[in-house]
Amino acid sequence: MRADPDPQLARVPRSRSSAPLAIAPVTVIDGNGGPPRRHAQVLIADGRISAIAEAGAVPAGHLHIDGDGGYLIPGLWDTHVHVSSEGGRHRQGWLGAAAGAVPAVVENLESYLDHGVTTVVDLGGRADVLAAARAQHTGARMLFSGGHFNWSGGAFVAPWMNRLVGTIADAEAEVDRAVSQEGIDLVKIVYSAGLPSHTPAQKLSPEVVRAIAARAHGHGLTSAIHGDSADDVFEAIEAGVGSTEHMFHPTGRWRDDRERIIEACLRSGTWWPMTIILFEAQARARDPSWLRLFEAAVRPGLLDEVRQHPDSMWLNLPDLDRDDARRRLEAAIETAAVASDAGVAMTIGTDAGITGIFHGLATHRELELHAMAGVPERRVIEMATSSAARRFGRADALGSIEVGKRADLVLLAADPLEDITNTRAIAAVIQDGAVVRQSSVTRTIYA
Ligand SMILES: [Zn+2]
Repeated sequence: MRADPDPQLARVPRSRSSAPLAIAPVTVIDGNGGPPRRHAQVLIADGRISAIAEAGAVPAGHLHIDGDGGYLIPGLWDTHVHVSSEGGRHRQGWLGAAAGAVPAVVENLESYLDHGVTTVVDLGGRADVLAAARAQHTGARMLFSGGHFNWSGGAFVAPWMNRLVGTIADAEAEVDRAVSQEGIDLVKIVYSAGLPSHTPAQKLSPEVVRAIAARAHGHGLTSAIHGDSADDVFEAIEAGVGSTEHMFHPTGRWRDDRERIIEACLRSGTWWPMTIILFEAQARARDPSWLRLFEAAVRPGLLDEVRQHPDSMWLNLPDLDRDDARRRLEAAIETAAVASDAGVAMTIGTDAGITGIFHGLATHRELELHAMAGVPERRVIEMATSSAARRFGRADALGSIEVGKRADLVLLAADPLEDITNTRAIAAVIQDGAVVRQSSVTRTIYA
């Protein structure tokens, strides 16, 4: 695993670049899976892509970013993060009510931009903190679910981020309240008896899960579930959720379970992000070499807290859960290409913020894990761009390099279709038509 971000990459004040942009010459990788378009010129005006043409003379009045033969991809999406938590620093670390929570979330959104991730989907955190961070309009775009729908005796219950519901009427009322008062973009449901180290918890009833998903859908929102066992996943898909997050626990004849789940996803159009790095990070809990990979990419002092804090989730992960994560890691690596080849709708999500998973760099590792698992690079980029935008109903404006789309773009110095780790060779990040990150090796000329 390469451990850069480019140390040359500087944050650029958004106000500095309101001029129309020309990026050329570049190879355009459109995010839709189309063939790369070489020696191209991409023009941007009023935040949108206004033209894609053969590289030639840059039109007057444009700020010219010399692509220098680089590669232009759509801004990346990470569809499963927790920006109010930091690498499982400690159990209360994402409580988020403390003074300083909002600036910390904003800084995490900025680190996504440092890594070319222009949109994130937060699947669990305090809605008030996330909404306040989003209102600052800086860092990656963010969609969020706010608290998890759960049963009072459910797994992963934490008072500061749950919506504990019992009946269908409770659940529907809470969906309505969250939509009208919290500004949520989707709902997140915990539907799991827990991890191997837990006393098995009681799940919400499938009827309540179905009602939550349907009510959200009625508001034009999608839903996501956290499931652990193959049965959790299968039952939730049958209940009509938008996505099932994570590889399930592989037990017994798990490949048969996988077939059943793939078939159900295909039938219902349910999305299935694998979050492979979640299991890699947990499988390597307490392995110092894992944290070293993130040294250049996270704020000073954070890794020491993760290594030393008495309540560090990374330090305290029970062995039983770590062993389970090893099995889930192997199964996820074996499943990513199988599911993708079968046509299952997939996005790139990391669960960053949880145990040993750090914002920004983790997204690139997830791309790499998918490529290592045998998913073709072009398809991996599609999962992280156009597929994600489609999953969240934003494909009209985001997720691909096409005329008329918002200009969320990443300029790379090397070809990510040759080697997916080249998504880390970031020369510039453009968000909404503004250059927000630029490496000192990228030349800018005012034409
Ligand atoms: Zn999560």
